[in-house]
Amino acid sequence: MGLRLKRPSRVPRGEEYDLVIVGAGPAGLSAAIYAARFLLKTIVVTVDVGGQLNLTDWVDDYPGMGKVRASDLVASFKSHAEMFGVKIVDGVKVTDIQEEDGDWLRVKGTRGLDLRSRAVILAVGSERRKLGVPGEKEFAGRGVSYCSVCDAPFFKGKDAVAVVGGGDAAFEGAILLSGYVKKVYLIHRRRGFRAKPFYVEELKSKPNVEFVLDSVVKEIRGDDSVKSVVVVNKVTGEEREIKVDGVFIEIGFQPPKEWYQKLGLETDDAGYLKVDEWMRTNKPGIFAAGDATTLWKGFRQVVTAAAMGAVAAYSAYNYLVEKGLYKPRSRAPAEASAKS
Ligand code: NAP
Repeated sequence: MGLRLKRPSRVPRGEEYDLVIVGAGPAGLSAAIYAARFLLKTIVVTVDVGGQLNLTDWVDDYPGMGKVRASDLVASFKSHAEMFGVKIVDGVKVTDIQEEDGDWLRVKGTRGLDLRSRAVILAVGSERRKLGVPGEKEFAGRGVSYCSVCDAPFFKGKDAVAVVGGGDAAFEGAILLSGYVKKVYLIHRRRGFRAKPFYVEELKSKPNVEFVLDSVVKEIRGDDSVKSVVVVNKVTGEEREIKVDGVFIEIGFQPPKEWYQKLGLETDDAGYLKVDEWMRTNKPGIFAAGDATTLWKGFRQVVTAAAMGAVAAYSAYNYLVEKGLYKPRSRAPAEASAKS
């Protein structure tokens, strides 16, 4: 099979939009679909299409879809937005958003991105949290992974791996890994889990999984690649070195707090963007949706992200109407022909 290289998107410079959506996970793509339905001239600028769905294998709780591959769900969100004429620019990171005279926002990014928009929706998700222990950085990509779903197959036939965390991602990853390796250690800092009960039940039923609870990772050791992980029991103080070929760190996400603050956007202490019930940030014309926000923080789901995206687009539309900036565009050809 030949290797097909993806052609990079053309990066817009000097163009003007009603709405720029930053991020193309479920929140950003849902916002794009709704914005297009409000006939806003919309562009999505993103580092990658899919967001956290790229780190998941299957989705079985998105209404109407049954059990679907996450990659298929992403493809269908994307083609839905494109059907309505939304442009998606992939492989670009937005670095700056500044107010300009005349109710414009100037949006700049990597690869020379420079455009003006009347409104912006930030749907940028969140970055992976790090353990911050010796060995983590040194062995990243040499046994240390932050995505079980992406990297599990590379460990096929290995003796043992550790998965760190007690949420859905750690459990989903450990279940998957238990099919690839001889032994999986689930290391978690307390005895209770955030993961959904059915994940917990399923992992407990696996004969090759050992739970290492009330325990934290002190160090990751190895030579060319990971060879062991040192854990400390927080209750007894006991230290244990466990031989593993890999360490999967699945301990959640950390928002880019400093960047938000540089843009003048208010966050909570953890760095999530403060929004009201209409997904408005403290800055007029800037909205936010999905995992980047403070909303429904304990329940991050595809359906909740998509809901936030839809509300943010509605809110952006209302903002433009109230400001007298709304100039409806013509419908995309696919939509126009579907209506006629
Ligand atoms: P999460 O739900 O925030 O869980 C993170 C886990 O890591 C928690 O158990 C937490 O412990 C632990 N942790 C955090 N910081 C730590 C540290 N410094 N050292 C050791 N442990 C630490 O994150 P997630 O599992 O990545 O999931 C993120 C979101 O995506 C969630 O809303 C989740 O429901 C969703 N998701 C859903 C699916 C699915 O439904 N198929 C799959 C993956 C993710 P504590 O519990 O003690 O705080």
